[in-house]
Amino acid sequence: MPSYRDFHRESIDDPEGFWRREAARIHWETPFSDVLDRSNPPFARWFCGGRTNLCHNAVDRHLAARAQQDALIYVSTETGIERRYTYASLHAEVNRMAAVMRSLGVKRGDRVLIYLPMIPEAVFAMLACARLGAIHSVVFGGFAAPSLAARIDDARPALIVTADAGARGGKVIDYTPLVDEALSRAQHAPAQVLLIDRQLAPERLKAPYIVDYEPLREQYFDAHVPCEWLESNEPSYVLYTSGTTGKPKGVQRDVGGYAVALAASMEYIFEGRPGDVMFTASDIGWVVGHSYIIYAPLLAGLTTVMYEGTPVRPDGGIWWRLVEQYRINLMFTAPTAIRVLKKQDPALLRAADLSSLRTLFLAGEPLDEPTAAWIGDALGKPVVDNYWQTETGWPMLAIQRGVEALPQKLGSPGVPVYGYDLRLLDEHTGEPCASGDKGVIALGYPLPPGCMSTVWGDDARFVKTYWQSVPGQHVYSTFDWGVQDDDGYVTILGRTDDVINVAGHRLGTREIEEALSSHAAVAEVAVVGVNDAVKGQAAIAFVVLRDAGAVDDPDAAKKLEAALAATVDRQLGAIARPARVHFVSSLPKTRSGKLLRRAIAALAEGRDPGDLPTIEDPAALVLIREVVMGRG
Ligand code: AMP
Repeated sequence: MPSYRDFHRESIDDPEGFWRREAARIHWETPFSDVLDRSNPPFARWFCGGRTNLCHNAVDRHLAARAQQDALIYVSTETGIERRYTYASLHAEVNRMAAVMRSLGVKRGDRVLIYLPMIPEAVFAMLACARLGAIHSVVFGGFAAPSLAARIDDARPALIVTADAGARGGKVIDYTPLVDEALSRAQHAPAQVLLIDRQLAPERLKAPYIVDYEPLREQYFDAHVPCEWLESNEPSYVLYTSGTTGKPKGVQRDVGGYAVALAASMEYIFEGRPGDVMFTASDIGWVVGHSYIIYAPLLAGLTTVMYEGTPVRPDGGIWWRLVEQYRINLMFTAPTAIRVLKKQDPALLRAADLSSLRTLFLAGEPLDEPTAAWIGDALGKPVVDNYWQTETGWPMLAIQRGVEALPQKLGSPGVPVYGYDLRLLDEHTGEPCASGDKGVIALGYPLPPGCMSTVWGDDARFVKTYWQSVPGQHVYSTFDWGVQDDDGYVTILGRTDDVINVAGHRLGTREIEEALSSHAAVAEVAVVGVNDAVKGQAAIAFVVLRDAGAVDDPDAAKKLEAALAATVDRQLGAIARPARVHFVSSLPKTRSGKLLRRAIAALAEGRDPGDLPTIEDPAALVLIREVVMGRG
């Protein structure tokens, strides 16, 4: 085993040699001719000319050696259902789903929008798309109808796959009325919606465009659908994520590069071996779900555990009991979940036999030191923080125990992962930061395999957004602040843009502002993120009303606050609901009219906003401070 430093160095100095070797981890129906095409920067094409298929590599390829091994264990504490699928039965289900999709006209290159709760059919649908060469776009089930409609219009899917309902914390959430509303709002609605009927919703919508899955599954029970061999750089999926503008970006990923990067990460970062059991507690609607509930564990021949439910229902011991029951070796979740569990009775953790568990991985938001220390002590197992984002698809920073188990440093997710030429750059000059100085975390060209290839349908946006934001440098910006120490360890210091992270969910403050502005009473609004003990951050809104008198009496203010929250629920979904709405008479702005969000966020957290020479009306800042203190 080489040292971490040699391994990383080689991946940067000789990416062709490095990744040629790693590419042997997957099956290539046609070998690639070039490892890397750098002819059109900042675009990078990996494994050019090679033909492969994600579904073949995740499922079919394992039939020879592990047909009877569990591929997917499904547990729902919402419905009490547990199901196990071996690689053979997963193969059969994926073929059925692929045959059904094909019968509905889905073909290579078509988009299929998947709006599903955490049910096995979501896995079948994603893998069926991969099999057919169709491009899946999974939309998190917590998003509301207008958000769904915006994604439909951007992706223009040939088919939507949905269910009658999701469930969370014992509450059933009807999906079909949401889909119905989204379809009526969208300009590019598909003609058909495939419905998985869980029989949870008391009365599901029976619109004429709805096609029931179950009878079709029966019809295609014995179907075999061959895998489409795709050129490595054809799109595999589009996953929308929030940015600085109100319009979410479709992060587009390739086929071959993604398969190779994930397969390699299972060994070097996650130390997952064929036959291991991995439980990633996330949602298929997020990138962690795509990469580490579905593709990576299956590509590497593991068993993946898919869980529908919360970490505290029926009680705070449920996840630990799952570890015991299914002999889980690797667990992956977000720090928020651990902060929630930390409040539970520690006896629940101690009561379970956790001897199978080797490592707990945490990502998606900053891991605070007390939480890291608590869970590390409680489990007595390594806790590996890892830093990445929807765009990269797999970790950028981590202690790569499968390469060399460098010591951990509390507060840092670790050192740059092989393949990533990660640098800290000065936000004004673009020059490299000295160690210990705060800078923008950037990545040199080319991005390694598995990272986004472009913004769906908008190459110009990919170039402009990600590659032209650090002055004088052709580098990819992560839009995160960081600081690197002399040993190369990086600590994340928050976003450089207007994106916030609530319970590991990435939200654009602009999107929340737009939703609030759609309410007739609102004249102006600023949304910022503030520290939250459990969720990491919480969204706080400062609203200027058209009629300031509307909130003169406290009851009226409470009512309006509730109405504004409901507006966000309807427009974006409850995950984006601001934790608090403050009414103010003006908002602090620069002389050119730009909102001083960072200053507002500082005040909302009780910090000093610093020097603001360009402020138009300093009284507006005083007002924010008073409002926050008065109600805080
Ligand atoms: P998402 O694209 O939703 O996965 O969100 C990615 C963002 O979450 C990153 O740009 C960071 O701001 C934050 N993030 C993810 N992982 C970590 C981590 N381990 N430590 C600190 N921040 C993180």
